[in-house]
Amino acid sequence: MPVYVCAPAAEGGWVTGAAGRWWLHHSLTALAKDLERLGSRLIVRRGEPIAELLAVARSSGAVAAFWNRCYEPSAVRCDAAVEDALLRGGLRVQNFNGNLLTDPAEVLTQQGGPYRVYTPFWRACGQTLDPGSPLPVPRTLPAPSRWPASQSLDSLRLLPEPDWTSGMRAAWVPGREGASQQLEDFLESALARYDEDHNRPDRRGSSRLSAHLHFGEISPREVWVAVRERMGRRGFAGAKSAEAYLKEIFWREFAYHLLHHFPHTATAPLRNEFRSFPWRSDTRSLKAWQRGETGFPIVDAGMRELWTTGWMHNRVRMVVASFLVKDLLISWQDGARWFWDTLVDADLANNTLGWQWTGGCGADAAPYFRVFNPVSQGERFDPDGEYVRRWVPELGKLPAEWIHKPWEAPVAVLRKADVRIGQTYPGPIVDHGQARARALAAYASIRRR
Ligand SMILES: Cc1cc2nc3c(=O)[nH]c(=O)nc-3n(C[C@H](O)[C@H](O)[C@H](O)COP(=O)(O)OP(=O)(O)OC[C@H]3O[C@@H](n4cnc5c(N)ncnc54)[C@H](O)[C@@H]3O)c2cc1C
Repeated sequence: MPVYVCAPAAEGGWVTGAAGRWWLHHSLTALAKDLERLGSRLIVRRGEPIAELLAVARSSGAVAAFWNRCYEPSAVRCDAAVEDALLRGGLRVQNFNGNLLTDPAEVLTQQGGPYRVYTPFWRACGQTLDPGSPLPVPRTLPAPSRWPASQSLDSLRLLPEPDWTSGMRAAWVPGREGASQQLEDFLESALARYDEDHNRPDRRGSSRLSAHLHFGEISPREVWVAVRERMGRRGFAGAKSAEAYLKEIFWREFAYHLLHHFPHTATAPLRNEFRSFPWRSDTRSLKAWQRGETGFPIVDAGMRELWTTGWMHNRVRMVVASFLVKDLLISWQDGARWFWDTLVDADLANNTLGWQWTGGCGADAAPYFRVFNPVSQGERFDPDGEYVRRWVPELGKLPAEWIHKPWEAPVAVLRKADVRIGQTYPGPIVDHGQARARALAAYASIRRR
């Protein structure tokens, strides 16, 4: 008897954001339909998990409870309390690791501590990992003689009002079927070129499985085994790419490893010296960043892709995050909160790792003094400007030569492309050279301390 308990109060200050709630609604709807096809149904409740589960067990006569563990600190606390209460209530309890390939608590260095650098972590447990094949989907599920009461999914009010989700609806198919299709498409069309294409936001070069993985619609084990199976096929010419992809999937393991061992890092820097970093409070610039109106085309394209589809390409996530933290000197926590609310794949471990990596304040992070230049990043990874044209249509007629630095384009070129800087498209909100110098001075100040 599958049960979903919606329990925002148990999410430890990280209640699923607006885009994630949209995904969750549709994911649960798809799950309920899949279960009905197997002769079962999804029981939906809202409230305190222990009370709800005990009530469900009492009214249905259930004698045991099973679940896959989640590894966010609040989920670990909640699981432990639920387990304790159910055992005391006379139920049997069994839980499993279906969400990760490794157990964050079990992988340790030879000294018995957590890993802080990705490559040794990968070498120790990723490189030779054989997670075994996933179990097949059951053909039927036995139904209990007494079904407990269930709320409607609509009553959870996960969908936003008014509805601003048309861009997400066009981009995604939440649920198991959408996840399987996405994996299949990726294996067929992009895996063999992943190494070359996954850094190119203008191409469909990555798997786009992040939200499906986050919501447990597909397991990392299933993805891992499917990729390895492709690698073993005769004539498969993308072994290097497939290896690169497995390594990328393993960053998710590393993220959970770090969050497990350093649970405070969702809100505080791992490296202590960053606690006194002189962040600026600048609401106007933060708003310009959130709305994709910074005047830097690659940044604006990414922020608008995020706002419209709930997702952003990984390379562009790094560029926009660096822009916020270094060019604007606004704290990574402000950026992480915005991503939390707007990403369909918002994930506490991955988001924390991504922001601390960019901010230079986490484990195995990019050094703070390495400041991304948004113009050269755009020119390198979106060389024809196609990605920018897709998301910043007001620059659509600019030639590639100027599309990543429109403020430098000759007047005649701007006129021909119908671009008026400051009117049809904003001028840059900072001078990158000066902003870089300011960021380095701020960094030097905490190093001196
Ligand atoms: C500032 C910042 C914030 C981020 N926030 C999130 C987030 O909230 N949720 C999230 O899932 N990812 C996050 N990422 C990581 C990464 O950008 C996304 O996982 C990736 O873009 C998802 O697209 P994909 O599925 O096509 O990735 P692929 O390239 O196809 O990778 C496959 C899977 O591997 C995992 N993965 C890939 N790269 C990373 C990484 N760097 N760290 C951890 N796992 C990774 C993801 O589960 C991903 O779905 C963030 C990165 C940055 C720089």
